[in-house]
Amino acid sequence: MKLSLINLKNFRNINKLEYTPCEKLNILSGENAQGKTNILEAIFALGTTFSFRTREDNNLVKYTADGFSITGKYEKENRLINAALNFSSNTGKIYKINNKKTTRSNIDRLRVVLFTPDDLYLIKGSPSHRRDFVDFILRQISDEYVYNLQNYAKILKKRNLLLRDNGVRSKTFKIINELFIDSAVKIILARINFVNILDETARQVYSELTNERYKIKIRYAISFPLDNDKINLDILTKALQKQLINKNEREVIRKSTLMGPHLDDIHVYQDDKMARIFASQGQQRNIAISLKLAELYTFKKIKGFFPVFLLDEVLAELDDEKKQLLVKHLATADFQSFLTSVNFGNINYYSAKFSLVINGHLE
Ligand code: ATP
Ligand code: MG
Repeated sequence: MKLSLINLKNFRNINKLEYTPCEKLNILSGENAQGKTNILEAIFALGTTFSFRTREDNNLVKYTADGFSITGKYEKENRLINAALNFSSNTGKIYKINNKKTTRSNIDRLRVVLFTPDDLYLIKGSPSHRRDFVDFILRQISDEYVYNLQNYAKILKKRNLLLRDNGVRSKTFKIINELFIDSAVKIILARINFVNILDETARQVYSELTNERYKIKIRYAISFPLDNDKINLDILTKALQKQLINKNEREVIRKSTLMGPHLDDIHVYQDDKMARIFASQGQQRNIAISLKLAELYTFKKIKGFFPVFLLDEVLAELDDEKKQLLVKHLATADFQSFLTSVNFGNINYYSAKFSLVINGHLE
């Protein structure tokens, strides 16, 4: 997907703006508080109908106005698509693709992958950040996965209720346990398959972004022990059955489910050491960027086209060599990207389109 035009009106600190990005890397530079992130936010909203910074649409409206408008044109698999997101407190939010009212699940919406400084939590945050990352991508790729996740959440809730209400001796608990295993195993297998693809792709990207000095490894970490090195449906099912018996007493005391995909993690290693503990701040940032790039390449592999990549202030903690390697990767890649930064240092932009953002305008 390539965004060729975006028009903004009364969006954040932007009065009126027309932006015609290039097909490869687009750089938005400027001092603090000029509107760089606001432009990324508008592109993100055009594809998703919401912001990554606020849940309140009103916050996106320029202080003095009563509504905002974002319109854009983009190419998807050789078709030109136009989209518009309009909001006012009177009409609410109206989303149109090719001039027809639609919803944010329209298949022709602009697909975006976003990287913000908060994505460092992908490495150093709690396991739920990493599970969410994997689930978010799998949800976009497979409807069956969406169904399995929802199903698992329901079963888990019922199971926890029975544990809380002393229902472990009931017939229902036995049935719930069977459903629990069935559903848990499906999710775990889908995640493991996906993490294997992620591992391969992220490893290549990270090696390129660090000049082949470091290697990363990504592994799915199951929250219960397995008797076997191999993982398949049968082995997982047996391991869970065994674990349900072993942990029964503890679960009754704790009144909650102590194993399953809701407690699994995704371990990231740099040179065989846990990145969360041993990687430096800059390395963690680069690993997180590699994971996001791997998301992009995996999306392309499965869906056949690239989303647009938005990167907000990713260069901040990287030294000049790492900045250069990242910019080179983005400038020569087959997807379109948008990169904001206050400061570039002495780096070569290659063929990137460079725009200076000053007080809500482009120069
Ligand atoms: P930084 O380098 O600090 O990240 P930035 O260029 O990314 O800066 P933005 O986050 O895009 O800055 O914000 C630009 C300006 O927009 C800020 O001064 C902010 O206070 C202002 N702003 C935010 N919301 C609105 C709004 N609804 N109406 C008008 N101005 C707003
Ligand atoms: Mg910003």
